[in-house]
This record gives sequence, C-alpha cells and structure tokens, in this order.
Amino acid sequence: MSTAERAFVYAAQPSRVVFGRGSLGRLAEEVKALGSQKALILCTPAQRAQAQVAADLLGDLSVGIYDGAQMHVPIESARKAREHARSLGTDCMVAIGGGSTIGLGKAIALESTVPIIAVPTTYAGSEMTPIYGITEDKVKKTGRDLKVLPKTVLYDPDLSATLPVRMSVVSGMNAIAHAAEGLYAKDGNPVMSLMAEEGIRALATGLRGVVAQSDDLTARSDCLYGAWLCGTVLGHVGMALHHKLCHTLGGTFNLPHAETHTIVLPHALAYNSKAAPEAMQRIARAIGAPSAAAGLFDLARDLGAPTALRDIGFKESDIEVALAVALSNPYWNPAPIVERAVRELLRNAWEGQRPAV
Ligand code: NAD
Repeated sequence: MSTAERAFVYAAQPSRVVFGRGSLGRLAEEVKALGSQKALILCTPAQRAQAQVAADLLGDLSVGIYDGAQMHVPIESARKAREHARSLGTDCMVAIGGGSTIGLGKAIALESTVPIIAVPTTYAGSEMTPIYGITEDKVKKTGRDLKVLPKTVLYDPDLSATLPVRMSVVSGMNAIAHAAEGLYAKDGNPVMSLMAEEGIRALATGLRGVVAQSDDLTARSDCLYGAWLCGTVLGHVGMALHHKLCHTLGGTFNLPHAETHTIVLPHALAYNSKAAPEAMQRIARAIGAPSAAAGLFDLARDLGAPTALRDIGFKESDIEVALAVALSNPYWNPAPIVERAVRELLRNAWEGQRPAV
C-alpha cells in the first residue's frame, strides 16, 4: 500500500510493561508505585507455588493468595472472588498465570476500581487487552472496558519456563493468531502491523527453541516478547473470521481454547489469503515460509501441535451446527462470508487438511 492511500486512527492504550528475567523481583516496587498496600494474589490451584513466591516477595504488602481462577471465568467464581477481595479491603490484584487467572482479575476489576498487576506465565496475551470474558449459563460473554486493562505487566521469562512444551506451542500459536488477524484488521494501523510481524517472528523462533529445549531461557524470552507484541495487537485492533470461529467452537462445543486457535488459523488465513495479500506476505516473511497458511500449518505440525479438529473432540456432525452459529451474527472480514466457503473451511480444519499453497 502506498503512503498516499494510507489512512488510519491510532489510539495507544496505557499500560506499563516491565520485561526481563527476574522482573518478578520488582513486584513490591510496582505495587507501591500504584499506591497500593493490600495486594491480593490470584492464581489457579496448579500455580500456587508461583503465587507463594510472589506473596513472599510482597510480605506485608499482600493480604494473601486466592487460588480460585478457573478456565473461562464462570460467573459464580467471579462473584466469589469479588466478595473475597472486598472482604479483605484489597486495593490491588496480582494475577499470576495465564488468560484464565488474568480473566478472573478482570472480572473483579470490572466491578471495582481495583487495579491489576499481571504476571503472565503463558503466551495468550490477555494482559495487554481491555477485553474481558465471563461465562454464564454456558455462554461466554465478552466485552471491552479500559477498567480491566492491567495497569502494570511484569513479563518474566523464568516463570513461563515451567509451561509444558505442548501448552507452550498452542499458547504461542494462539498469540500468533491475534497478530495474523491484526495484520488485516478493519481498524488496523502501521504501528500494530510492525508489532504483529515482529511478534510472529519472535514466537516462531522462540517456539522452535522451546521444542528443542524446554528450559532454554533465550527461547522462552523470545516467546514472551512475541506474546507481548501479539497481545498488544489484540488489545488495539478488531479481529475477524478466525476469532469468531474459535469463539464459536470454544463456547458451543467446549473445545480447548489454544488448541482450537492452532488448528483453525491456517484455514482462516487460506480463506482470507486473496483478500489480504499484504498481510499474508508479512506472515510468510515472519515465519520464513513461502505461504502464510501452509507455512503456519507446517509450523504447528513440526512443533507437535494438533492439526485436526477431529483430534480434539469436534465431530463431523458438529460442522453444520458450528456453521449456523458462526453465520448467525454478521461481522467484518476481509473476504466476504460465504456459507459454502466457511463450510469447506470447517471441513478442512476438521480433517486436518494442509491448505493448498
Ligand atoms: P490458562 O490460563 O487457562 O492456563 C491453563 C493451565 O496452565 C492452568 O491450569 C494454569 O494454571 C496452567 N499454567 C499457566 N502457566 C503455567 C506455567 N508457566 N507453568 C505451569 N502451568 C501453567 O490458559 P491460557 O491459554 O493462558 O488462557 C486461556 C483463557 O484466556 C481463555 O479463557 C481465553 O478466552 C482467555 N483469553 C482472553 C484474552 C483477552 O484478551 N481477554 C486473550 C487471550 C485469552
């Protein structure tokens, strides 16, 4: 695109990012910088040990650990956590974990003015977005509110080194999906495109390194750097067909979030490839492949990730139901939404077909 054709709006979102090995050690300083004295540490039961390290670093600045974070933030768990935080007079939340834990922090922040310090230990990117999701009666409702955007984010690669390799790969592919759709977003802008391409490059390099050696801290650092960039893109620009399909598949069929993103992404990119050629070039360049769609399929397969929806619990007979849900709500996408073509996309993703180059 020539500079003369370019027109965009760019609104930066305020968050403070502290990146680097050992940055968790700055937690007390960051809590004090927010003027807080009663930090509640949020985690899942599985990450209690990491939360304890944070509690020890905070000493008297912490009112304790709450380990009730759950996948997809059920409304009951949000209500319980809000009540717990209120009863302790919490004035800051330290969410240490992945998208589920940060999501619980957001659910509390939505109904209070309590700020979040996020310490992400996966690559999902929620820490950089004002997007929240809460599940009620099996339906996950999402919304945007700057109140839930974490004020401070501590990215410490040492903490993500414990993330199992398979989860690291699918979590990283989930992040790549944010950047890929950001590259053809309706409200995209050149700054986000720079971040998206660099984020994909960092994750592709980092994930290859993590698969070769899971505790390689250079590779972990590359992945977390990529996660920051890709999460920032998700927080700033709108998403399209890929995210809509994954939301439908996750919500209606309870498929695992990051795995679903990993499998669907190459097919969504194949769908959009003719409508968004510049985005495809940038993705292909970032992963070092001739084609974005086939290249990401190969990357996922070579890293040992699942490549077929049928391998993660999605049945052939579910295709029509998913199609109906996905088409029920019109949304923007660079290529027009055509029923026959989306059906074919879902079928290819179900079968695990490598997209044609
Ligand atoms: P997750 O937070 O559900 O974590 C999965 C499991 O991995 C948990 O048991 C967790 O404790 C464990 N874990 C996390 N980090 C670990 C580590 N370093 N070592 C060992 N175990 C670790 O997974 P996720 O993929 O990060 O988050 C998925 C959720 O986040 C979904 O609900 C998704 O919708 C949401 N999400 C939201 C946004 C947003 O902007 N609001 C963005 C991305 C994802």
